Amino acid sequence: MNRIGYDKDMVANFRKQVLEYIVPLNEQLIRRQAKRLGIKTVKYYDEPVHFLDGNAELKGDVNSIIEKTLKMYKELSYETSEFFEYIVEKDLFDVEKREGKEEGGFCEYIPKYNSPFIYSVYRGTIDDFNVFTHEAGHAFQKYLCANYEIPEYCSSSEDISEIHSMSMEFLTEPWIKDFFGYDAEKYKFSHMCNALSLLAYICVVDEFQHFAYEKPEATYEERNSFWRELEKKYLPYRDYEENTFLDKGTYWLRQSHIFWGPFYYIDYGLAQVAAFNFWYKAKENREEAWEDYMKVCKSGGSKSFVEVIKLGNLKNPFEEGSIKDITQSIREWVLGAEEELR
Ligand SMILES: [Zn+2]
Repeated sequence: MNRIGYDKDMVANFRKQVLEYIVPLNEQLIRRQAKRLGIKTVKYYDEPVHFLDGNAELKGDVNSIIEKTLKMYKELSYETSEFFEYIVEKDLFDVEKREGKEEGGFCEYIPKYNSPFIYSVYRGTIDDFNVFTHEAGHAFQKYLCANYEIPEYCSSSEDISEIHSMSMEFLTEPWIKDFFGYDAEKYKFSHMCNALSLLAYICVVDEFQHFAYEKPEATYEERNSFWRELEKKYLPYRDYEENTFLDKGTYWLRQSHIFWGPFYYIDYGLAQVAAFNFWYKAKENREEAWEDYMKVCKSGGSKSFVEVIKLGNLKNPFEEGSIKDITQSIREWVLGAEEELR
């Protein structure tokens, strides 16, 4: 599976730590969300709504977003400045919304031109912004590693690649106000809440996959009931109300990774923890965090996940206590931000 340096038991220990430290924080955040929205309990369709007067909105059209992105990368570092000027100059992105254009976002590498290419669809939502910054993180790493002689070193395995992109989403935080104006704090809060709930959801998908692939003879009903059990474990607040179809545990049918990329989904979780790590490292010392991030990106596919974690001076998410430490600083910030935004 292109992964070296950790096994099934270590991944199980990772999920155990998420259950112990992230899930209770998510429950607390959901209770506060209900209060903020003035409802008794948050139903599954309420979960994405963080504020009664609406979630943060991206300000400006697609051209102004590109202008702001240029400015952001210019100020962020010398390397990102060079990188994004190159992207714009060579027209290595397609982000405008057009009729018939497929949804989603990705970053490709074009070996013939030693260049990354970013694809996304801009409609003006928070997600569009996240996707673009995320893919720019992937592109930045590919740009930095274009000169490796060994082609396999130009890109890394997914667990490492997602560190580049998910961390970029957090390292660009000081420029959020340029994009979201008075909604900047709302954006940062929602971004963090979404990352926290995603981490718990990733554990549902991962544990489900271990079950589904170890027990191929399980019936459709057994799979459904195991999925619902996992939702109750990692997303204990999930309330499907009168939606009996989802309540019997069928949500996994829409998670395509389960079908086409067994055991790939956990990579997002491992990388998310590394990204959280960069988030608070940057709060403590931006220069140092950026140096570490550069080391991680420049190493491309030359090292394993655990080696990269070490190289970037990050906490090893498999090690007992790592997620506890990371959650502590997030908890403090996210609950404080929530109080300010009430
Ligand atoms: Zn990605």
